[in-house]
Amino acid sequence: MARKFFVGGNFKMNGTKESIKSIVKNLNDAQLDSNVEVVIAPPALYLQLTADSVTKSNIAVSAQNVYDKPNGAYTGEISVSQLKDSGIHWTILGHSERRTLLKETDEVVASKTKFAIDGGVSVIWCCGESLEERESGNTISVIEKQLAALASKVSGADWDKIVIAYEPIWAIGTGKVATVQQAQEVHEAIRNWLKANVSDEVADKTRILYGGSVNGKNCKELAKEKDIDGFLVGGASLKPEFVDIVNSNL
Ligand code: PGA
Repeated sequence: MARKFFVGGNFKMNGTKESIKSIVKNLNDAQLDSNVEVVIAPPALYLQLTADSVTKSNIAVSAQNVYDKPNGAYTGEISVSQLKDSGIHWTILGHSERRTLLKETDEVVASKTKFAIDGGVSVIWCCGESLEERESGNTISVIEKQLAALASKVSGADWDKIVIAYEPIWAIGTGKVATVQQAQEVHEAIRNWLKANVSDEVADKTRILYGGSVNGKNCKELAKEKDIDGFLVGGASLKPEFVDIVNSNL
């Protein structure tokens, strides 16, 4: 089954009203590969502005996080129903910056993922190993543990609303991109894990993105790999070269 190429832009805690409007204008004006699904994730404060500024139907807007409780006394959090109410149908979950800085466990991330999906919000679910875990030969086992926590919470049609992003922590924001072989090897392992533990169908249709220092130069080589179905882009999503990443296959 052909998997639609997917490019996410994770703005993280960057941007102002002016800079975000200009990033969106650049995307609105660009010639983007129409076979690519583009999803940009500004800080929560700018979700509405971003959604209101996008004029292209193949660009959607995503939150960077959402809480796993309905509305209520959860100071500082945003609910799934509030995202929906604002016309936001995507969220990133389990980004390594939240896993490490905010101590979100595999279980918390899985629970949030299930909660978002049940509320009708699709999820860019992130996983990845630290440098220490890679150097000690534990990359695949770390990712399998993260996947197992996810699979214990989601099932069946839930997988239609999940895009997996493999982001080695040592490659995020460091300029140190994984080699094409390193990325493909982990993507293939993720797909094999889905095959063995979920189903052939889910393994076949789930998009697996690579993230970690992707830029306008390295994207084309990575995009050629059979198990790399797109990218989750941080730093370069704030720059005009994001267009080149969206257009990796042209
Ligand atoms: P980077 O970030 O592209 O700046 O390395 C990727 C991410 O954290 O999603």
